[in-house]
Amino acid sequence: MTADYLQLRDALSRELAGGGHDDAVEGGLDELLRRQARDEPPGSALLRMVAALPPTGYAALTGDARETWLRRALATVRRELSLEEALEPVEPGRRPVRKKAPSQAATRAEGPPATRRTGAGGASARIAEGAAGLDAPIAKAATGIRGAALPKLEKLGIRTVRDALLHYPFRYVDFSHAVPISALRPGMEATIRGTVEKSRLMPMGRGGRMKSTEVIVSDGMGHVQAVFFNQPFQTKNFPAGAEVALAGRVTTFRGRTGFNNPEWERLDRDEAGKMIPVYHSTEGLAQRTLRNAIEKLLERFVDRLEDPLPEAIRRRHHLIGLVEAVREVHYPTSEAALGEAQRRLAFDELLAVQIGAVARKREWQAEGSAPAIEEHAASEAFLATLPFTLTGAQRKVLDEVRGDLRRTVPMSRLLEGDVGSGKTAVALASMLDLVAAGYQAVLMAPTEVLAEQHYRTVCRLLSGEPEPPITGLVRVPGVGQVRVVLLTGSTPAKERRAAAEAIRHGGAHLIVGTHALIQEGVDYHRLGLAVVDEQHRFGVMQRGDLRRKGQESAASRGGTLTPHLLAMSATPIPRSLALTVYGDLDLSVIDELPPGRTPIVTRYLTPIERAAAFRHARDEIAAGRQVFVICPLVEGSQTVESRAATEEYERLRTEEFPDLGARDRILLLHGRMASREKDRVMRAFAEREADILVSTAVVEVGIDVPNATVMIIEGADRFGLAQLHQFRGRVGRGEHPSTCYLLADDPTPDAEERLSIMERTRDGFELAEADLQLRGPGDLFGTAQSGLPTMRVASLLDAPLIDAARREAEQLLDADPELRSEEHRALRYAIAERVASVVGEAH
Ligand code: ADP
Ligand code: MG
Repeated sequence: MTADYLQLRDALSRELAGGGHDDAVEGGLDELLRRQARDEPPGSALLRMVAALPPTGYAALTGDARETWLRRALATVRRELSLEEALEPVEPGRRPVRKKAPSQAATRAEGPPATRRTGAGGASARIAEGAAGLDAPIAKAATGIRGAALPKLEKLGIRTVRDALLHYPFRYVDFSHAVPISALRPGMEATIRGTVEKSRLMPMGRGGRMKSTEVIVSDGMGHVQAVFFNQPFQTKNFPAGAEVALAGRVTTFRGRTGFNNPEWERLDRDEAGKMIPVYHSTEGLAQRTLRNAIEKLLERFVDRLEDPLPEAIRRRHHLIGLVEAVREVHYPTSEAALGEAQRRLAFDELLAVQIGAVARKREWQAEGSAPAIEEHAASEAFLATLPFTLTGAQRKVLDEVRGDLRRTVPMSRLLEGDVGSGKTAVALASMLDLVAAGYQAVLMAPTEVLAEQHYRTVCRLLSGEPEPPITGLVRVPGVGQVRVVLLTGSTPAKERRAAAEAIRHGGAHLIVGTHALIQEGVDYHRLGLAVVDEQHRFGVMQRGDLRRKGQESAASRGGTLTPHLLAMSATPIPRSLALTVYGDLDLSVIDELPPGRTPIVTRYLTPIERAAAFRHARDEIAAGRQVFVICPLVEGSQTVESRAATEEYERLRTEEFPDLGARDRILLLHGRMASREKDRVMRAFAEREADILVSTAVVEVGIDVPNATVMIIEGADRFGLAQLHQFRGRVGRGEHPSTCYLLADDPTPDAEERLSIMERTRDGFELAEADLQLRGPGDLFGTAQSGLPTMRVASLLDAPLIDAARREAEQLLDADPELRSEEHRALRYAIAERVASVVGEAH
């Protein structure tokens, strides 16, 4: 048999992730290699891999040498795979539990000296020459870092020389912009220059075993003190009379203005006036040590970096070469040069992301065999029965969807529209056309409450009756009897069986539910369209699961059928970011709200005005309306956050609204509650069993309580704009005017700016754009968002650069779908490396 590179990829990844103990494959890696290599033609990639091993095979290698070989072998294997396969992360589930940390594997490699020499003299010595040393383990390079500090590098993701070169600074200390010492004020970030007057060693604390260095620096006009805690060795760096620069945050210590552990440089040596890189480091690895190590490697190795960008692309977009960019990003010669370097490196990352996205997109497009739907009589008849006409934006999007459905290429479309923009009607109309053509259509929601609401909405809209039959059987003009089925985690066993049966045999036409829809035992008859609501609440995987489920069901019946996929989201993200995060989907946008909505009044209140918010809430409750109270976000601690919400709940029950508290008209919702319990609370609130819902940020997106007219957001300064906008969208869904109060006790000037933008702006896209500018992309998605690529430098704000990367990715894959040509060899390698580092093989 000839080599199965997919199997090899998985085995090698597992072995690498497992720390190189030769336990990833039954019988050992050598056995697998031997089996696979048996019928290989001379010169094949596998034979080349094997030739890099000592005659006694992989088993004879130790620690570092094993790792080096594995990495090189993986890169070789990736070049043999299709681009899609190369990019596909190895499923974590298929990887064995990491038994030993890689650092321990390295320690193990110390072993008896004789073995060690075999390892070093074997594969890795050869590799050090062949790959220009860039892939040599960092332990082998002269960095001045050795022993106990080596695992610290590993912790930073630095295992090879190349890793070190690509460990970019996250900021710079600019010793060229100094201020006079007399201008220092506590709290500011500043750099000063001056002469050391004296330095001395001081005992720390009372026990006095630890010593710190105190340095007094003068610039002729003023004095400042710098303290280096527990760093007695620093005294030798600050002899009296030395010219130095200090940089850092200004503090006060025992009444004196000064710096604690500042960045420093000797100006009487040669580093003067440069921008000095500051790297992410880790406990126990001094910034200076890391900086020196990287600097040394930079000098020796940076010229050997191979530029993966074809010359033509570089020229088209005026991008500097890789070597120059890497050099400049570590030690910029000027601000402008740094900008150019960052732009070049950002382009590389964006291009890699876009190549991945375009390749994935072409992959599913090639799967083909989706139902081609040309007939729209059913949806038009349905739309005619609605009490409203579609907005222009809804029409436009419906047309885009119909355009996709006409083809056998499966649709993969993301529908973005602000809360209340009417996404459901568009989705439902399209689903009906599929049903009329004899296919099933599903609508999947992230929570039970939302799924139930959708189920009722669907039944109501289809039947045109306020109280549709609970059987889910509705007569739809132009289609006939349509059976709507609900399936969630809390569907009782008997009904669940009936639902599953109807789904399997095709008795169920329109299926609404939660994750339950993609679980084991659910098998579709002829799934033609999958709609995923609030798709950002699902992982990338689950979005695809529904489609896969449909394919598998068809396959089990001996047919082929790929369902169309429509993902919907109320998180409006700017187009440039959508191209990056959802680059494999086509994008449709509903950018207009239905007419006649009473706009929501938004008010930012200072602490002394907060009573007004609760007064208004009381009036609204008296008038029969309901109120949301959102508690502040506590970063990183759901427990603390839930506790704070519980306290607020108690405060409202006993102090603010004791009358309502006494009648149990206040409900609490937080992240520590079981999901069943959360669903129960939301259901109760939606059914008006309470007047106030106190909640943390978990309050479900998409829950519809048209009777709620007041939204009070405590600690509003802690939330991003996009999230505040989502909360605000929970009110203003009925006929009554609504108000959203933003409360903040002590907002920073930045936060005040954000809150006032909220007051002024109702457009979700505008807010998302502002959020991206103000806080960066992470906050826009919160932690729930998976799939945002980890990038070192890429600017997700640079829309033209993103567009350029997209266009180049498309052209590259048009010309060379697998990136196999000699010209693209380095690019393909760079992408595979990148993917490896993202999925964690390299770290
Ligand atoms: P979302 O986009 O947030 O999912 P929905 O689809 O739930 O929005 O629609 C919000 C409300 O607006 C629903 O009550 C729906 O019936 C109504 N609606 C949808 N489209 C229109 C329209 N064109 N004119 C008036 N009301 C509409
Ligand atoms: Mg919705």
